[in-house]
Amino acid sequence: MNVLELIDVVKRYENHTAVDNVSFTVPQGTIYGLLGPNGAGKTSLIRIITTITRADRGTVLLNGEKINSSTPSKIGYMPEERGLYKKMKVGEQLMYLAQLKGLSKRDAKKEISDWLDKFDVASWWDKRIEELSKGMQQKIQFISTIIHRPKLLILDEPFSGLDPINANLIKDEIYQLNQEGTSIIFSTHRMEQVEEICEHIVLINKGKKVLDGNMKQVKLDNKENLYRIDYEGTLPNHIGDQFKLESSSENELLIKVSPDEDSNQLLAALIQNNVHVTSFNEVLPTLNDIFIKQVGHSDE
Ligand code: ATP
Repeated sequence: MNVLELIDVVKRYENHTAVDNVSFTVPQGTIYGLLGPNGAGKTSLIRIITTITRADRGTVLLNGEKINSSTPSKIGYMPEERGLYKKMKVGEQLMYLAQLKGLSKRDAKKEISDWLDKFDVASWWDKRIEELSKGMQQKIQFISTIIHRPKLLILDEPFSGLDPINANLIKDEIYQLNQEGTSIIFSTHRMEQVEEICEHIVLINKGKKVLDGNMKQVKLDNKENLYRIDYEGTLPNHIGDQFKLESSSENELLIKVSPDEDSNQLLAALIQNNVHVTSFNEVLPTLNDIFIKQVGHSDE
């Protein structure tokens, strides 16, 4: 079962196609990475999914149903641009947003108190948003995003501006919500975070889907037959033309095997050349490598 399905979605702005025939599915209960360089079309996609804007073409299904006016109440969306009212107090702000999401006054109060307690900030109820630091505001924004316990959570750069302790706190909550059945779409430029957190990804570039799938499969699909070999002793000058030495440092080699050879042949060649191999491992590309290869420039 898929929590979200996009089929041939198109969005044009004047003479620019921001989303160009994009299709992908987000499996139920997954943590899904929505990736792409600046201007790729991620925010445009999210705004379509959350019904903030309309697609020019294509279909978006949330739990098998076409998105409609009730969709926003089923989704929790934390945009990168944080939008809290600076002059409002934390408690009244959260009460307002929770009731807007359909909670009764009583439920809203209970949920908010529980979350403020959980984050150890019960005393913030009467603080004005403008009195809080950026990271503190972000915690409040996170609470406002999940207060109505949506089945789908869309988080755009949820850790930006957070110190490592608060980032971990939010990360643990994300995992907890996911364990309880919430599907999560996570958008960020930080590839190491995606690698750590996401089970599936989609990569968008210039409005088009470049790749999608299970993280492990994406890595296997993009592997370059690269092997790391630890060894002891001395190395011969030459192992074989079919093996390209990428780098060598003391007792470690990185060797690329040509596509028509396999790793056993490399291992056999090393042994034949009296190399004392102590470990032999395939090196899969990092997501950062894949991103740069597919998109053609660094994400920095
Ligand atoms: P970033 O990672 O920088 O946030 P993004 O992947 O979220 O980028 P979008 O904000 O979706 O990218 O923008 C995709 C393209 O659509 C960009 O070229 C942008 O200039 C254009 N675009 C987005 N919103 C509008 C708009 N309201 N009017 C005109 N063009 C727009």
